[in-house]
Amino acid sequence: MRKTIPEPARTVDVIHETEVLVVGSGPGGLAAALGAARAGARTALIDRYGCFGGNITQVGVEGFAWYRHERTVDSEGIGIEFEQRAKAMGAATPEPQSNSHALDAEMFKYVADELVKEAGVTPFLHRLCVAPIVEDGVIRGVITESKSGREALLAERVIDATGDADLAARAGAPVRKAPREQLMAASVMFSMAGVNKTRFLEQVKADPQRYRDWRGNGEWNIETDGKEDDMFSPFLRKPFKRAVEEGVIPASLSTIAGTWGSITDQGDLTYLNLIQLPNVDGTDANDLTVAEIEGRRQAIHAIEALKRFMPGCEQAKLRNFGMTLGVRDTRKIDALYNLTAADVRGEARFDDSIGIFPEFIDGYGLLIIPTTGRYFHVPYRALVPQGVGNLLVAGRSIGGDKISHAAVRNMMCCAVSGQGAGVAAAVSLRRAEPLNTVDIGAVQQELRRQGARIR
Ligand SMILES: Cc1cc2nc3c(=O)[nH]c(=O)nc-3n(C[C@H](O)[C@H](O)[C@H](O)COP(=O)(O)OP(=O)(O)OC[C@H]3O[C@@H](n4cnc5c(N)ncnc54)[C@H](O)[C@@H]3O)c2cc1C
Repeated sequence: MRKTIPEPARTVDVIHETEVLVVGSGPGGLAAALGAARAGARTALIDRYGCFGGNITQVGVEGFAWYRHERTVDSEGIGIEFEQRAKAMGAATPEPQSNSHALDAEMFKYVADELVKEAGVTPFLHRLCVAPIVEDGVIRGVITESKSGREALLAERVIDATGDADLAARAGAPVRKAPREQLMAASVMFSMAGVNKTRFLEQVKADPQRYRDWRGNGEWNIETDGKEDDMFSPFLRKPFKRAVEEGVIPASLSTIAGTWGSITDQGDLTYLNLIQLPNVDGTDANDLTVAEIEGRRQAIHAIEALKRFMPGCEQAKLRNFGMTLGVRDTRKIDALYNLTAADVRGEARFDDSIGIFPEFIDGYGLLIIPTTGRYFHVPYRALVPQGVGNLLVAGRSIGGDKISHAAVRNMMCCAVSGQGAGVAAAVSLRRAEPLNTVDIGAVQQELRRQGARIR
């Protein structure tokens, strides 16, 4: 039994009251806040770190639509706006394997600031939400901790976009989390500076890698449905394999492999997704501690291997690590409807669709690239947790099984569920209807007005 101490009860200042409160500002939460504000609700957005953007800006995940090809039928709405706005503000570069732009993780911090400001969303950075305020099974707001101490924010509707369903779980909504050995690996992401772009791209061209090369070991042991195999992938394994063979890095690091994201004219090689750390539960601070330290150690070895065995990287150095460990998979809510593998692979159609997402599946050993025009509907009910009133969930923790998670966790789809949640919260307030019985036609009408594609 662990030793415990009682925490004295205390009175907390209410620092803000609003109509819609969004907690977490990744692609899900940012889209939720913009969707709610543009639908006319007074909206506030909280994040635990000093910037909005979630995994984009805090981890350095830049491949926003790397799945998009000529025949892809893509989502529309705020997700596309993220990409286009970033492009217009010099915060995106052409992505090497698709018809899309990779976001510049650093510049996107500023893009997100501007979007939040323009929409009139009230920002609250540097505040970790530590508890929901729940009365009679209904969420009334949240308690935060920060340099300012403990504070309360009250709201008529709350959207949990923490990625980990922190609020839903603490409010008592049923959630599921696989044992840590079954969760997708976590990653320490990093970027390098000082790469000779010409030499690097010459090597990529001389020895082009394909999605079939993702087959191998560890995390990168991927099945496709065949059509992807001969397509180009910005994949790196050979330099690390050689480094192990030549004793430059330890044999235990034969797991190092993965993709690069973009290379700039200034020699920045970004979004290096090379370090895969299994057995990490992203809701366990001890696991996070171990993984951060181990991930950085492995990244330093990866850089050494690239300097030695990847042409163009000889003079390169570490530019930055992500601000925090990248976590792909933790809690999922048990929603009014939980998406299934059959839904995301079978072009599911739902009357309560709040947006579409292509048949793009990336995870649990499966990679399906949407080169066919196939897509599924994202149902509103997958955002609605059970047992707690006035609460919606947006982003990667919406209800669904493993394979559906490998689809809905993608950032464009998180923006779809986010915009859907934000609009539904605002419409339910305007119509004075509870979230679980909100008029879905009215939600869809507002989503269409905001540029989302529903069918
Ligand atoms: C290494 C890595 C590579 C990936 N590659 C891709 C890719 O190439 N393409 C793609 O589409 N997807 C990719 N993904 C998946 C994608 O990044 C995530 O699934 C997606 O960002 C989830 O969005 P979200 O809004 O649900 O959560 P997040 O982006 O995780 O945002 C959650 C936000 O909530 C904040 N937060 C969390 N808890 C609290 C709290 N208690 N209080 C206050 N704030 C809180 C966080 O700081 C963060 O800002 C990758 C993920 C990882 C980790």
